[in-house]
Amino acid sequence: MDPEKIAFIGLGHMGLPFCRNLIAKGYEVHGFDIATQALEALEAAGGRAARSVSDACSKADYVITMLPDGNVVRDVLTAPDVLAAISRSAVVIDMSSSEPFATRQLGASLAKHGIALIDAPVSGGVKRANEGSVSIMAGGESETIDRVRGVLTAVGSKLFEMGPLGSGHAVKALNNYVSAAGLQAACEALLVTEVFGIDASEFVDVLNQSTGRNNSTETKIKPFILSGTYASGFGLSLMAKDIRNAEKLAQALDVSAPGLTASADFWTKAAQLSDADADHTEIYRFMGETLNGRRLTAGGD
Ligand code: NAD
Repeated sequence: MDPEKIAFIGLGHMGLPFCRNLIAKGYEVHGFDIATQALEALEAAGGRAARSVSDACSKADYVITMLPDGNVVRDVLTAPDVLAAISRSAVVIDMSSSEPFATRQLGASLAKHGIALIDAPVSGGVKRANEGSVSIMAGGESETIDRVRGVLTAVGSKLFEMGPLGSGHAVKALNNYVSAAGLQAACEALLVTEVFGIDASEFVDVLNQSTGRNNSTETKIKPFILSGTYASGFGLSLMAKDIRNAEKLAQALDVSAPGLTASADFWTKAAQLSDADADHTEIYRFMGETLNGRRLTAGGD
């Protein structure tokens, strides 16, 4: 039997490892990215570099998008040549972290062309993308999710079905708000201990054995902040976008969430005042240097 064909659009920090895992499971991956080096990396991994999005989508059984945000996803998928190229028996899977209500609108536009969409954003970062063990939160018709189960479990180890289209994107945005709040709290506390004169590494050890422990204290502060590498592979502007998506959702549902609003404002400001390619862990440097005008001992330049 011929291998199933996947069109994969967006070969960045997450997209490329996903392609490697799909290729390892026997799928034929035709990828496209606006960055030439990403196409070269896909070919080196055994995939096929397409000339355009529509070229990748032609005759694909599945179309996966792993792009910066929902606006890019919509622009890519609703281009006339792409709509014409996607097979009516294919399923489109948006694995990007997009905005839930915009995803519903996109689903309705694609449905008019007879194209099925599900949202299946992920959590776990580059490390778990490499391992094929991200968690996936899917939204859409159950039968459609069932049709893509094999593809999703090739890149992730936990698949949660959250409800109708857009539910995965809602859960992802809210997850990242909770994650960012934990990182922000840990970084603020770290900054105060630094000024107080307590050793940063010892402080993190205490947090990790105490009730202040969270995912950021365990997996981010020492390897990416105290080391000064700031190389987690997840951009600060992407985190800011996710929290804004969570805030827009709360607003649209008329839910007052003051911590979420403050977080969205804070991260948006940090993204505006940081380099476009800043890592999200550079939030610590932003707090210490930009907001407080301090020269940091741990995690400074
Ligand atoms: P990235 O910036 O590394 O990759 C995005 C890729 O999309 C880039 O290679 C870029 O060239 C490409 N691109 C942009 N516009 C394009 C277009 N019009 N056509 C084709 N290619 C285009 O980002 P990433 O970290 O891989 O994140 C991708 C998505 O996954 C985002 O929505 C992000 O929020 C989400 N996400 C990221 C992580 C992480 O740890 N990096 C974890 C979970 C979810």
